[in-house]
Amino acid sequence: MYIGRFAPSPTGPLHAGSLVAALASYLDARAHHGRWLIRIEDVDEARTVAGAAEDIIQTLAAFGMRSDGEILLQSARQIRYSDAFDKLGGAVYACACSRKEIADSRVTLAADGAVIYPGTCRNGLAPGRTPRAWRVRVPAATDPHALIQFDDRWQGLISENLAEHVGDFVLKRADGFWAYQLAVVVDDAEQGVTDIVRGADLLESTARQIYLQRLLGFSTPRYLHVPAVVNDRGEKLSKQTGAQPLDVRNSINALMGAAEHLGLTLSHAPSSVDEFWSLAIPAWGQRFVRT
Ligand code: GLU
Repeated sequence: MYIGRFAPSPTGPLHAGSLVAALASYLDARAHHGRWLIRIEDVDEARTVAGAAEDIIQTLAAFGMRSDGEILLQSARQIRYSDAFDKLGGAVYACACSRKEIADSRVTLAADGAVIYPGTCRNGLAPGRTPRAWRVRVPAATDPHALIQFDDRWQGLISENLAEHVGDFVLKRADGFWAYQLAVVVDDAEQGVTDIVRGADLLESTARQIYLQRLLGFSTPRYLHVPAVVNDRGEKLSKQTGAQPLDVRNSINALMGAAEHLGLTLSHAPSSVDEFWSLAIPAWGQRFVRT
């Protein structure tokens, strides 16, 4: 049974970029006659904006997208993340380093410009140091387990060596919140998600997530990463780059714009949201569902 999901962070209203991810995940679930779930990723409570989750859920409904099951809130699931973390045992360790210490200690940068953790606290904290965050060990670059490969249904074969690209990464943050990477893996497994369809800005998080799935004994879903929507300055659309909230009174135009971004060709211009779905679902199915 296909189970897909859309997992927005409630940091602001839905915009044209997040609509593309919602639309692609919804179309893929419908074209596979599967279930589609909404999950609110408010694990980073410091970034959560009051009312944003309700606003996103209402906007999706106005576009015709409703969750086929209970809407999970990550903020209510701390205990699950804590259980998973405990299962990792010796694979995790306490880290006392501040951002500045890490930045000062080594010049190796990851593909996304982040600093690769130099492993200072890997073998225990130096005397007098207090734990700030908790990290998971990744295997040495030459260990075959460090190389994560997956076949993305849009992007093709993706290979990432965790030691070279990421290093030991944070599962519990210095501010006390669970990291997105852990929460997303626990939730996808618990909800039985078989297919993750989301924006390509998360492509480079996927290897970390597959690594955690393996450590926790979860199966790995299939992945499809759709091209991110950028503004005319080439920046990914987000609240920070000034993306405008969607206008639900203009839902057909917004949906058509998102479908066009996904390269879908509809036989004619729909005159209602229902008609949009009746054209877009088979168009997606033709391209992405193997029969
Ligand atoms: N909550 C993440 C975001 O809004 C998406 C997570 C995911 O789809 O895995 O960027």
